[in-house]
Amino acid sequence: MELTLPFHLENFIGGNFIGPLSGQFIDNINPASGEVYGQIPDSNEKDIKIAVSAAQIAWATWRTTAAEKKFSILNKIADLIDQNSEALALAETNDNGKPLWLSKKVDIYRAAANFRFFATGLMHFSTESHSMEDKAINYTLRQPIGIVGCISPWNLPLYLFTWKIAPALAAGNCVIAKPSEVTPVTAFLLGKICKEAGLPDGVLNIVHGTGLNCGEAMVKHPAIKAISFTGSTKAGERIAAVAAPMFKKLSLELGGKNPNIIFADCNWEKMMTTTIQSSFSNQGQICLCGSRILVEASVYEQFKTEFVERTQQLSIGDPLEENKQGAIVSKIHFDKILNCIKIAKEEGGKILLGGNAVKPTGRCANGYFIEPTIIEGLGPQCKSNTEEIFGPVVTLQPFHTLEEALELANATEYGLAATVWTQDISKANTIASKIESGIVWVNCWLLRDLRTPFGGVKNSGVGREGGWEALKFFTEAKNVCIEF
Ligand code: NAD
Repeated sequence: MELTLPFHLENFIGGNFIGPLSGQFIDNINPASGEVYGQIPDSNEKDIKIAVSAAQIAWATWRTTAAEKKFSILNKIADLIDQNSEALALAETNDNGKPLWLSKKVDIYRAAANFRFFATGLMHFSTESHSMEDKAINYTLRQPIGIVGCISPWNLPLYLFTWKIAPALAAGNCVIAKPSEVTPVTAFLLGKICKEAGLPDGVLNIVHGTGLNCGEAMVKHPAIKAISFTGSTKAGERIAAVAAPMFKKLSLELGGKNPNIIFADCNWEKMMTTTIQSSFSNQGQICLCGSRILVEASVYEQFKTEFVERTQQLSIGDPLEENKQGAIVSKIHFDKILNCIKIAKEEGGKILLGGNAVKPTGRCANGYFIEPTIIEGLGPQCKSNTEEIFGPVVTLQPFHTLEEALELANATEYGLAATVWTQDISKANTIASKIESGIVWVNCWLLRDLRTPFGGVKNSGVGREGGWEALKFFTEAKNVCIEF
C-alpha cells in the first residue's frame, strides 16, 4: 500500500475519509521549518455525533467477533505499520520535529509493537472464578464497555495513540480516537492502514480537532462510556470535572517532574550515558524524562563538569540529519520553554549550559530549536523544580543522605517516574519503596515491558495502562453467582 498525504487531512468515520461538517480547518505546521504544510479538520460535537453513530452500528458485530478474528486483524495492522515504517517515521518527524532515527527506533517500532502485544493479549485474556466450597460458584465476566474515547498528546504521537486504541479494540470496544491537533498526521495514516488491514468500518473512528471543540465533545457525549486520556495535568483536571458527574470510567496519564537520583557508588559511565538520554531525548519532551537531577554531594562537582561537557557535544538542527537533536514541537511550546528558562534565572538559577534558542541555517532557519539547558542553584520549592517544563531543560541539586534524596525527590505534586543510580541493592530498594511515583527505574531508564503497569500517582494521574491493566480498564467486570 502507498501512504500518501493530502494537504487537507480528513476524519476517518465509519470507514470513510470525510472532511469536518463545519468545513473549518486548522493549519498544521512542520516545527523544524516553521512552514504550514497541511490543514486538519477543526471537528466539533457534530462530527463526534456521527462518529458515535458509526461506532454504535459497528459494535453490534465487533463485540461478538471471535478472538481469533480480532487477533488476526490487529496483527495485520501491526504488520502494515512495520511495512510502512519508513513513510510513517518520516511523517512523524515532519509533524513533530523529533529526530528521524528516534521516530523509526521508538515511535513507529512501538506503535506496531502495541498492536502485536494486545492482539496476542486478547487471545490469553481470561477471567476469574471464586468457589464458595460446597455452596456456590462465582465467575466473573469481563465484557467490553461499548464505545470508548481515546485522547492522546503530541510528544509520542502514533506510539501513545496506538497504546490506547490497541487494548480498547482488543477488549471488544469500538473507539472514537482523537490525536493531538499539533501532531495529527500519523493518526490519519493509521486510518488508511486499518482500512487496508480489514478492520470493519466504524470499529475505529479517528476524529481530528482541538481539545476544546473536539476532545471535550467526546468527553461530554453520553454514549462514550470511558475516556482514556494522556496529556497535561491541567487538561486531565478539566476532563475529570466533565466526566465524573456522568460516572464515566477514566484513565488519566498526566504530567511529570521526574527525579533522577544519582549516588556516588553507581556505575558511572552507564549512568552518565543514560542521564544524557533521560534529560534530552526527544528534546526533553517525554513525560518520563528525568528533569530534576539529584546528585550525591561527594560527586556533585565531578558530575556537573562531566555532564556539562558531554551535553555540549549534542548537536542541534535538522531532525532529518543523523545525530541531531530535533525541534521543539510548536511555537507556543517553544515560547513556553524559553519563558521557563527566564523564570529560572529570575529565581536565582545559574545557567551552566544553554538557555537560548538556536537558529540553524538552511531549511530549518525558521524552526523552533532550543539548546539543551542545565541549571543549578535552585531549591526544591522553586517553580523550576515544581512545575513541568517539558523541554530540554534540567536542574541539578545536591543531596547528602538517602533521606535527603527522598525528601527532594518527593517534593513535587507530580509522581510519574523516578530513576535511581546505585550499586547498593538495599539503597535501591529503600528508594523504590518510599518514592512517590508509579514507575521506578533502577540503573536504567525507559526500559519498557508492555506487560507491566504504567501510570502515575499524585498529579501525574489516575489508573494504569499496560498489560492486563489496560484490558481490564476497557472492560466491565460482572460477577455471576450460582448457588448449587
Ligand atoms: P494536552 O493536555 O494539551 O493535550 C493532550 C490531548 O488532550 C490533545 O489531544 C488535546 O487536544 C486534548 N485536550 C486538551 N484539552 C482537552 C479537553 N478539555 N477535553 C478533551 N481533550 C482535551 O497535552 P499535550 O501538550 O498534548 O502533551 C504534553 C503533556 O502530556 C505533558 O504534560 C506530558 O507530561 C503529558 N504526557 C503524559 C504521559 C503519561 O504517560 N503520563 C505521556 C506523554 C505525555
